[in-house]
Amino acid sequence: MSRFQRRRGPGVAATAVAILFLIGFMGAQTVITPPANRYSVSDDVELGRQAAAQVAQQLPILTDREVTSTVASIGRQLVDAVPPEFRHSEFRYSFDVINVREVNAFALPGGPMYINRGMLQAARNEGEAASVMAHELSHIALRHGTAQATKATKYEIGELAGAVIGAIIGGRVGGAVAQGSQFGLSTAFLRFSREYERQADLLGSHIMARAGYDPRDMASMFRTIEKAGGPGGPVWLSDHPNPGDRAAAITREAETLHVQNRTDDRGAFADLQAQLRRMAPAPTTKEATREVPAGGSPSSPDARPGLGGVDAPSSEYTAYTEGNLFRVSVPSNWRELRGRNAVVFAPEGAYGEANGQGVFTHGMEIGLVGTETPNVRTATDEFIGLLAGSNPRLSRPSRYDVVSIAGRQGLRTILSNVSDATGQQERIEVSTTLVGDGGLFYALGVAPRDRFSAYQATFRRVVSSIQFNDRDP
Ligand SMILES: [Zn+2]
Repeated sequence: MSRFQRRRGPGVAATAVAILFLIGFMGAQTVITPPANRYSVSDDVELGRQAAAQVAQQLPILTDREVTSTVASIGRQLVDAVPPEFRHSEFRYSFDVINVREVNAFALPGGPMYINRGMLQAARNEGEAASVMAHELSHIALRHGTAQATKATKYEIGELAGAVIGAIIGGRVGGAVAQGSQFGLSTAFLRFSREYERQADLLGSHIMARAGYDPRDMASMFRTIEKAGGPGGPVWLSDHPNPGDRAAAITREAETLHVQNRTDDRGAFADLQAQLRRMAPAPTTKEATREVPAGGSPSSPDARPGLGGVDAPSSEYTAYTEGNLFRVSVPSNWRELRGRNAVVFAPEGAYGEANGQGVFTHGMEIGLVGTETPNVRTATDEFIGLLAGSNPRLSRPSRYDVVSIAGRQGLRTILSNVSDATGQQERIEVSTTLVGDGGLFYALGVAPRDRFSAYQATFRRVVSSIQFNDRDP
């Protein structure tokens, strides 16, 4: 049952009375402050441009004229309604429909937005579809992608663009980057923190009202998305974690908003849905990207991780050298999945993709993130905060042990997590130390909760084998 009915447009006199009444009694709308961002607005544009070129290459963009023109016209209406303080004249908004089945949508910094066909088919009306677009638009306008990167990395725009596509299609094109994405940086632009989600919900509701949509359609869209989720849950909700009390918070905000020039539903959206129903069913993202060769790794793992058997770590170790940064020895039956900023070592059957994300269930990720603080504890807290952005059920450290990593002072702590991708309860041993000028080196050992004690000795042996290249850090 829907609690919210769309009101029919009242007469002019009734509207005037309603406005007077509302001015007297409604609270002020929430003020939104965009998060700190050390990238420039033109960085957003460049990053979005590069990633969009990859999206166009890798994902099936729908070309049907009727569908694309209706979506673009909803999008333009929303862009015109962005409050002046959040406008960036450099941004170029675009709205593409991806011909895949999953109920999902995503936006890239600087303007490109993508709505899956599955999302358009799940929406119950134009307002619900517009609400997802208004939410995504808000992430762009508030520059959440680069703000999130600001918190954690000092990477070049080109490196970040590669990570974006890795996160979008999981273990295929992104290769090893995506393999580590459950814990790495590649999801930075697609999976936001709860605070950013709260902001996108709020600004999205403001944009909707200014564009003539009922912001309460956003609250009802979340219920629609929840219901539409197949096995593994709706992808959009895992990329946009619930900031808590989501529907109620939007409904409260809606009470402070006046819907301007209420949009008449002229039936264009119903026509769009009818058109989609006439087409052949949309493939899954995985089916749609099947032809794409994996970059960096010899073959693409297809198995959903954690379901097959996983061999215990070999007692024989193999040495790896990572660039000019470090050397490490790992069990010889762990495969190396190399990324740009991190490398994952995992046994067969313990890595793959789920919900379009690269994940691993047993093994280690070793990598480097940028940090602004010279304090290893603060840097580690921030890093764990970053992990929590893409792992909403990750616990926070209750204590740190001081350990030695390659002769440097470091920290170690054990976290618990429930993997969004597999539903698995897992333990993560985090080891960190500061390196060079503004780097935090980390090693994450991941195992299912009931196997963790068996893996812990392996994790520690791997960490104790780490040697930094003296010339670099
Ligand atoms: Zn979001």
